[in-house]
Amino acid sequence: MFRSIPLFILLALCLPPAFAKTSWQLTMAETWPKNYPIFGEANRQLADTVAKMSDGRLTIRIDSANKHKAPFGVFDLVRSGQYDMGSSSSYFWKGKVPNTLYFTTMPFGMIAVEQYGWFYHGGGMQLMAKVYEPYGLLSFPGGNTGNQMGGWFKKEIRSLDDIEGLKMRIPGFAGEVLARLGAKPVNIAPAELYTALERNTIDALEWVGPSLDLRMGFHKIAPYYYTGWHEPAGEMQFLVNRRSWNRLPNDLREILKTAMRMTAYDTWIRTTHESATNLAKMRQEFPAIKIRSFPHEVIEALKKANDALLAEKASADPLAKEIIDSQHRYMEKSRAWTLISDKAYLDSSTE
Ligand code: CA
Repeated sequence: MFRSIPLFILLALCLPPAFAKTSWQLTMAETWPKNYPIFGEANRQLADTVAKMSDGRLTIRIDSANKHKAPFGVFDLVRSGQYDMGSSSSYFWKGKVPNTLYFTTMPFGMIAVEQYGWFYHGGGMQLMAKVYEPYGLLSFPGGNTGNQMGGWFKKEIRSLDDIEGLKMRIPGFAGEVLARLGAKPVNIAPAELYTALERNTIDALEWVGPSLDLRMGFHKIAPYYYTGWHEPAGEMQFLVNRRSWNRLPNDLREILKTAMRMTAYDTWIRTTHESATNLAKMRQEFPAIKIRSFPHEVIEALKKANDALLAEKASADPLAKEIIDSQHRYMEKSRAWTLISDKAYLDSSTE
């Protein structure tokens, strides 16, 4: 009887319904300006990787902040479904959802390798999911910058008096800690940083490290470049709208998840490479840059303020306490290993 049915109808009957839709496109909103190095490149790499891994079935269209005009509106753009995905940093959303603060990096907290251990094996991913779930969002680590530099300052910081009244671009928990020492922290979008420093809207700023700072030109206005205390493991973020995620077939979800993790890893390595390259360039071509570390009394005061603020956050909100305790416990365990492995090695090999 099959002989009487045309072959193309037979074939159509055998194919699964999903065949009717063969490709998916996701849109992504970046916090970063157009063609931004490293972070922007990572997103283009992500798009390229998912397209290749899925044989063209999954593509990502990326809009930079220049296009959507809302560098700090990415949370809302993805939450509302205007975009399927976002590329940003979790701590930018602390004004909306205070507990998003803990998933970028914490002052005096874990270094990148420790923090990745916490995310993937120490309960960090589950806690992040708990924070984002009520907003219909999924959050994934989006690439680490490694230890960040403490920032560019127009004047040398010699004592706590130099912190008093200092207007500084410094987001996240670190900004709140610095405020306890009398500074005036603000957050400013990446594209506006140079102008803000040049026009004295701010006296100092932190951005990332030599990897991204040198090309921003901050050294032309603020020659003091301080080592870091505030962002030992700056983790970017991939945000995904849950409805968009649920629409994807299982294999494409897995491809996207794997590609995001690979891209995040590559950003970490890339930033490390670019920082090493640009530090050498700074030392050779820009000898006017003065690398400093904050005085002992400033670091001690920052640590004290940090501990007090953490205790306040923990006592005010049970979920904040759960996250802070989890990070604290994981850091204690992983740091014990870091000290007798990497630190001991570095100490003995540079003696
Ligand atoms: Ca930073």
